Amino acid sequence: MSGLALNAASLRYDNGFTALNNVTAAFDSGSFTALVGPSGCGKSSLLRLLAGLEHPFIGSVTGLAQSDIGFVFQEPTLLAWRNVADNITLPLKIEGHNPSEIGGRLDEALALVGLTDFADALPRQLSGGMKMRVSLARALAKRPPVLLMDEPFAALDELTRFRLDDDLRAIWQQQKCTIIFVTHSVTEAAYLAERALVMQDGEIQTEITIDQNDRDSGFRSAPAFSAACNALSAALGHGMETKGEA
Ligand code: ADP
Repeated sequence: MSGLALNAASLRYDNGFTALNNVTAAFDSGSFTALVGPSGCGKSSLLRLLAGLEHPFIGSVTGLAQSDIGFVFQEPTLLAWRNVADNITLPLKIEGHNPSEIGGRLDEALALVGLTDFADALPRQLSGGMKMRVSLARALAKRPPVLLMDEPFAALDELTRFRLDDDLRAIWQQQKCTIIFVTHSVTEAAYLAERALVMQDGEIQTEITIDQNDRDSGFRSAPAFSAACNALSAALGHGMETKGEA
């Protein structure tokens, strides 16, 4: 797949509010893009539009079929009375895959998120970070070429979030999927992505490429990371809350 694109997309909600204004963006196959910007600038609207969850809109999405998409929301949205394995496999059962295929995908997804030993656990027995891992595994089990993530780690404590950031980078490198990740955090965008699209008032204002050197260890203290954070903060001006970030 050569990638997907959003072409001159505008989205107006029923109340007349224009959430996206003539947005054009291309996402190469296998790329990792962060969508960054202050609350209300249209990040989630853009993601939902790509996912086919916003109709009608002006413009078009090309290179993306609904079956290509895995979506991870901020809330894990797990079924409380079903165990981890059942939560992960339910969408596959609905899609009608055979049991051995489902079993294989379950094992693969559990291993990717580090929950192999928790297949039988119920959601209430898991920490917030583990619940989010289950949510991620449920999306990965579909083996989607494109993963759309809407502030998935925003509610987690800082250390848990750092671990999930690292694991997500590893999963991305292993699975070679295209990731579009919404965050309001400058540091999370700089750490995770290869490129950040900075949004403001329903438009993409700036594109920032994040240097991928020094990735092997200690990237949070690497010059490339500080440079990316500075570039992002400058692009966001004073509209961005960076204090108190997890
Ligand atoms: P972000 O993800 O950047 O915080 P959103 O895409 O969620 O922003 O929202 C962009 C703007 O559109 C906000 O001002 C929000 O209030 C408005 N909005 C979002 N959803 C709806 C809706 N269903 N109806 C009307 N306005 C909406």
